[in-house]
Amino acid sequence: MNVTSAPIRKIVIVGGGTAGWMAATYLARRLAHLRLSITVVDSAAIGTVGVGEATVPAIRDFLTAIELSEVEVLRATEGTIKYGIRFADWQRPGHAFFHPFGLYGVAAHGVAFHHYWLKQRGAGDNTPLAAYCLATQLADRDLFLPPADRPANDLGVFNFALHFDASRFATLLRRLALANGVQHVDGRIVEVERDGESGHVSHLLLESGERLDGELWIDCSGFRSLLLGEALGVPYVDWRRWLPCDRAIAIPCRGASPHKPLTTATARPAGWQWHIPLRHRVGNGYVYSSDFVSDNDAEALLTSHLEGEALAAPNRLRFTAGHRARFWEKNVVALGLASGFLEPLESTSITLIQSGLERLLPLFPDTACDPRLAATYNRQSVLEFERIRDFLLLHYLPNQRRGEPFWDFMRAVPPTEGLQIKMDAWRSAGEFVRNEWDTFQDPSWLSMYAGFDDLPARHSPLADRFDHATLTDSLARMRAAIDTTLKLAEPHHAFLSRVADGRTENARGH
Ligand code: FAD
Repeated sequence: MNVTSAPIRKIVIVGGGTAGWMAATYLARRLAHLRLSITVVDSAAIGTVGVGEATVPAIRDFLTAIELSEVEVLRATEGTIKYGIRFADWQRPGHAFFHPFGLYGVAAHGVAFHHYWLKQRGAGDNTPLAAYCLATQLADRDLFLPPADRPANDLGVFNFALHFDASRFATLLRRLALANGVQHVDGRIVEVERDGESGHVSHLLLESGERLDGELWIDCSGFRSLLLGEALGVPYVDWRRWLPCDRAIAIPCRGASPHKPLTTATARPAGWQWHIPLRHRVGNGYVYSSDFVSDNDAEALLTSHLEGEALAAPNRLRFTAGHRARFWEKNVVALGLASGFLEPLESTSITLIQSGLERLLPLFPDTACDPRLAATYNRQSVLEFERIRDFLLLHYLPNQRRGEPFWDFMRAVPPTEGLQIKMDAWRSAGEFVRNEWDTFQDPSWLSMYAGFDDLPARHSPLADRFDHATLTDSLARMRAAIDTTLKLAEPHHAFLSRVADGRTENARGH
């Protein structure tokens, strides 16, 4: 096998789930000028994981990169809009808060808005932080408004993501990939052959006897991690000590309520339940720790919390929080479940597939696959996973669900060093520590801390530049400005109807 430095001519993507077809569409578009051969090999007999229906706003950049409009995706996938996630019963039963895709309030004189809010709160003003966030207010009222290109100030800064039917999304991507010259082979892989000298993967053997060759392999084979894990033996880094949820049951059901532009995550005795509204059904799932509930009890609980008739048999899934020690090894790069998994509490798997692809392009190798490229990619990927892990852990640590074994356990999980540093800065000074490869920025962390009433000891002395009366006035004006903007929005269901009827071709309503 040739492992000297020559341009890559042949990429083989192993797996035709969301990761495989995202990789195929993205690479076909972005590398079109190189006229590479790109092949997706998957097995209809094995199928895909069949879940993964909520995204984060970065999906919009991905769609732009592959030249697919949001409206086309919404229409083809029975999709809906998502302004964030409502966390019900996490702090304690009966309490809820929202993690929006948007900013809170307006910073002034270089001082973040939340310090002014904290100051007012200390003086007895109990207006919730959510009152200063347009995305939260849109979500609360089931409204849709596209973000402005050039918002007048921070109050207008927000974004949206999509909910979609995962199998329809994969079908849409597949159609696009094939139209862009990607080849597709349906066949079960029975053997992975490696070059004796370099250890690079050289061929795949299919059950049919067909033998496929390739120079760069993208492993999107799902939890099995056929190439990176099985063939190259890259071990799995197990994070269950921080994130012990290791199972999920998914059941789609008929929707009874209007389509809300938000995902709901409801705390349950041994984990949490997702609710993802789609136009033709609702996606539901119970993510739980098998140390705290049996599969049958978990299924019974989920079944008793469906808003409508179940539309399919329960889909039971098992996973381990963590990631492959290396995401890129020799001439194999893993994406999606083949590279690792973090529970879908913040819908981060699809965005991790996207960021993996975005990281790969600037480091795109030649046939020799210089190990320094892989080392750079791996360092970045591990950091990105660790940052998300820390953010997810923050969803559990401050809970007040006392007397419930799972939640008591989660309150006592020792934070990672990175999370402890962030929490210390917040609790002592209301400050955020920002790291390279943080997926979640200050407003996301703020929504969690405020949602759990985990507030700092003091506001910044810099916020004392304004007296109470001045702040009362300016905060009231911010709320009024949000009210004015809300009048420009339309009901979410009305926007979705326009999408379905073909009366709009982009999210701006044109
Ligand atoms: P899969 O869908 O498992 O695809 C694997 C592919 O490999 C298949 O095509 C299969 O045929 C092929 N394959 C495997 N072995 C062979 C073989 N021997 N021969 C040939 N082909 C083979 N992500 C989000 O972003 N948002 C969410 O809300 C979300 N919710 C989730 C909930 C749960 C419970 C779980 C488990 C995951 C969730 N995810 C979510 C993650 C998301 O589902 C996945 O990241 C996404 O679907 C990508 O999966 P995949 O393509 O990596 O793997």
